[in-house]
Amino acid sequence: MVTEVFTRKYCDPHAVRDEKVEATDVVQFAWEGTVREVDACDECKKEHEARYEPLVDYSRPVKKRRAPKKAAATEETPAPEAASSEE
Ligand SMILES: [Zn+2]
Repeated sequence: MVTEVFTRKYCDPHAVRDEKVEATDVVQFAWEGTVREVDACDECKKEHEARYEPLVDYSRPVKKRRAPKKAAATEETPAPEAASSEE
């Protein structure tokens, strides 16, 4: 038996309204430090851009931040074995 599987992406904003429109684009945006994405059709992509345009105008790009403090702290803590092997 030969089978073919097709994956179809549907526009997320349209899906919310119970409409199935094929997605032609992926819209990426960041919210509270997390990059998120939405499958969108051409129409919704333009809508998204229009919505974000003023925000982009008065914002600035963020440079990559350093590793979160938690990760750095664990690296600096010496292993108990290493500390007792000096004698
Ligand atoms: Zn759409």
